[in-house]
Amino acid sequence: MADSTAQLSRSRDLDKLLLRSGHLVGPNFEPGPELRDDLQQYARVLVVGAGGLGCELLKDLALSGFRNLEVIDMDRIEVSNLNRQFLFRLEDVGKPKAEVAAKRVMERVSGVNIVPHFCRIEDKELEFYNDFSIIVLGLDSIEARSYINAVACGFLEYDSDDNPREETIKPMVDGGTEGFKGHAKVIMPGVTPCFECTIWLFPPQVKFPLCTLAETPRNAAHCIEYAHLIKWDEVHSGKTFDPDNPEHMQWVYSEAVKRAELFGIPGVTYSLTQGVVKNIIPAIASTNAIISAACALETLKIVSGCSKTLSNCLTYNGAEGLHTKVTEFVKDKDCLVCGPGVLIELDTSVTLQKFIDLLEEHPKVFLSRASVTHRGKNLYMQAPPVLEEMTRSNLNLPLFDLMDKIPKDIIHVTGTTSKSDKKMSCLRKLRVVFKGIDGVTDMDTAGGV
Ligand SMILES: [Zn+2]
Repeated sequence: MADSTAQLSRSRDLDKLLLRSGHLVGPNFEPGPELRDDLQQYARVLVVGAGGLGCELLKDLALSGFRNLEVIDMDRIEVSNLNRQFLFRLEDVGKPKAEVAAKRVMERVSGVNIVPHFCRIEDKELEFYNDFSIIVLGLDSIEARSYINAVACGFLEYDSDDNPREETIKPMVDGGTEGFKGHAKVIMPGVTPCFECTIWLFPPQVKFPLCTLAETPRNAAHCIEYAHLIKWDEVHSGKTFDPDNPEHMQWVYSEAVKRAELFGIPGVTYSLTQGVVKNIIPAIASTNAIISAACALETLKIVSGCSKTLSNCLTYNGAEGLHTKVTEFVKDKDCLVCGPGVLIELDTSVTLQKFIDLLEEHPKVFLSRASVTHRGKNLYMQAPPVLEEMTRSNLNLPLFDLMDKIPKDIIHVTGTTSKSDKKMSCLRKLRVVFKGIDGVTDMDTAGGV
């Protein structure tokens, strides 16, 4: 009884958006009960991450009328998560986040079905991601965002005029928070900038100039970094500072206090010392709630067309007063991820092995240990061993033959690339063109390598 009343009032709120037209509706909006029913029946939403943002997202999406949700997360619940990841309880510590989050939301919101996936995002086949109407990201790592972004952009196809084909656009909504700051982004691959187009928005980690630390400290963080970066080495010649050693941390703290007293600077505490030294940014539950609400609303707008979507990045800052702003970023037309793909010209005799070797040295691709897929067919897989064995014999065959002698087509490759000494998984879309085949004009191959 309570359930059906709750469901009714929920649908009443939603009906105001979905059953009537208005000035702000999207271009293809067709209001009516069918839209509401279709949304509940057919819209499939993937939430990536079941942490602070993910918990909020699952709850918000379930309460916004979505009934087919899935969530993927590789982490287990830790005690320190409990202050903000509100779906988890003390007895859940050690259990997979995705599973507990799905269960808790299903217990509270009747009619919703949430399928949890307790694994790494890279462990899923690419086709897994193609099954969803929309992908919502509640992640805290740039690498994981990059990966999902590349997967979603990988589904994008361009027509012969290099315009994105609408039915291949996989929309994404990306949420992110850091302390009192957050963002919500709507990504329509091929139309609005993808995550990679605007990756420069993530500033490099703040480093204070050493001269400021040594001569003119102005705040508590400067005093702490002075003790950590300068004083430690002066006193402990050769001994490396270990941030996980409480004695080391205590030493830095007391040195920072002395320094702060000398310059009359307030605010040095032990926990701030830990925060500065380990570069910990506190997670704020309300920031997650605000950003998640914006993301869930954009998801509803994209799927239903009930309103124009955010164009295309909302930033929120609650650190001093409250400030929100929407910025329309532009697409990087040379983006390697959401663009039409890096063009690679090959002779028809090039073997798959030679192609894989070539990717390692290609100045725009730089991909080692590549696995290669063509139109959903695995041409060569580096792992797992059983797939590697099954596809190994392809290595000596010409790629042209493996691609069914299609003169120009898209190939997907996954592998590792190193960015500032860090190895990361990466997915690239390549436009492979074979030389000297009828139907390939000079225009098509212009700009090739
Ligand atoms: Zn892009």
